[in-house]
Amino acid sequence: MKILITGGAGFIGSAVVRHVIKNTADQVVNVDKLTYAGNLESLECVYSDSRYFFEQVDICDYAEIERVFSKHQPDCVMHLAAESHVDRSIDGPGDFVQTNMVGTYVLLEASRRYWSQMPEEGRRRFRFHHISTDEVYGDLVGSDAFFVEEMAYAPSSPYSASKAGADHLVRSWYRTYGLPTLVSNCSNNYGPYHFPEKLIPLMILNALEGKPLPIYGSGLQIRDWLYVEDHVRALYTVLTKGVVGESYNIGGHNEKKNIEVVESICHFLEELAPEKPEGVLNYKDLITYVQDRPGHDLRYAIDAGKIQRELGWVPQETFESGLRKTVQWYLDNRSWCQHVQDGSYRRERLGLELNSREQK
Ligand code: NAD
Repeated sequence: MKILITGGAGFIGSAVVRHVIKNTADQVVNVDKLTYAGNLESLECVYSDSRYFFEQVDICDYAEIERVFSKHQPDCVMHLAAESHVDRSIDGPGDFVQTNMVGTYVLLEASRRYWSQMPEEGRRRFRFHHISTDEVYGDLVGSDAFFVEEMAYAPSSPYSASKAGADHLVRSWYRTYGLPTLVSNCSNNYGPYHFPEKLIPLMILNALEGKPLPIYGSGLQIRDWLYVEDHVRALYTVLTKGVVGESYNIGGHNEKKNIEVVESICHFLEELAPEKPEGVLNYKDLITYVQDRPGHDLRYAIDAGKIQRELGWVPQETFESGLRKTVQWYLDNRSWCQHVQDGSYRRERLGLELNSREQK
């Protein structure tokens, strides 16, 4: 299979690319604009693989996307490119509407045109897998319910609203045009190569530098956490075994309050990095509370029963085992973090190196 993966230089996308190259015989075409969130250093281990191709392209650029389809002739699409940080969506929603909704529309249209001209066997096998979030369902405050696939969408932030809009577009391209689509909605991911603006890496790196660990509001917001490599296995399962037109919830059965997550990070750091920065007695002492995010949802919880029953996927990591691995990864990969923090990961050098490989 040749898989066109959008957003393959991001946190989850790069994990998908690494997984596919390492564990399958498939080829990958990584289509990524390289926004601040795209980091080619996360793909160093696949650079030289003859099954890996890179195209630095904006998914909103129809002509460029058509060129990529025509040049690489993919068998399927895994669409992960997105603006993904909720805080940024509050400060500047425009990019979220543009990439998450318009970009998805462009990909759907380019896919539909390409798919409609494929030979019969290729048309039958083609898949457009849209990777989305559980945040489209909104807030579960005051209830013990779980998100199930049939639930109506009620997004709260510009990020989740733009992802919800994209999900609706994907479904309508299936219903209206018959494009063979799949949608998956996953809970919060964590793991290696996560951009340090997100909760878990931010807390690890701040703690190691003796900086405050800022928690929004009361810290009682509940999220379901999934180790990124479990998510990747689920995505490949949905792509290869999912029923066309269906959507699948993916989650880790790990509901945790934000404060519990930060306390667990401090616990693992005490064990794995006992030599603390000057003046820090316990990592926990660095926890501080800051003003809550506007529109902050209190509880998300996923029912992942459908993908377990119908496709046989179950997560392999518990929250404790996954978090321990994650803390250890950040301790072992300080140069990756350093390059993100000082901005050197965006140096043109890497982009140029890879652009030249695009010729192969
Ligand atoms: P990320 O922000 O780490 O990466 C996004 C990638 O998309 C980056 O490489 C960026 O350069 C690229 N990109 C952004 N705009 C683009 C454009 N216009 N054209 C081409 N490329 C562009 O995101 P992530 O955390 O890896 O999330 C990937 C997908 O999974 C997103 O669709 C997100 O909504 C979804 N998701 C994320 C989580 C999570 O916890 N991180 C959970 C559920 C679903």
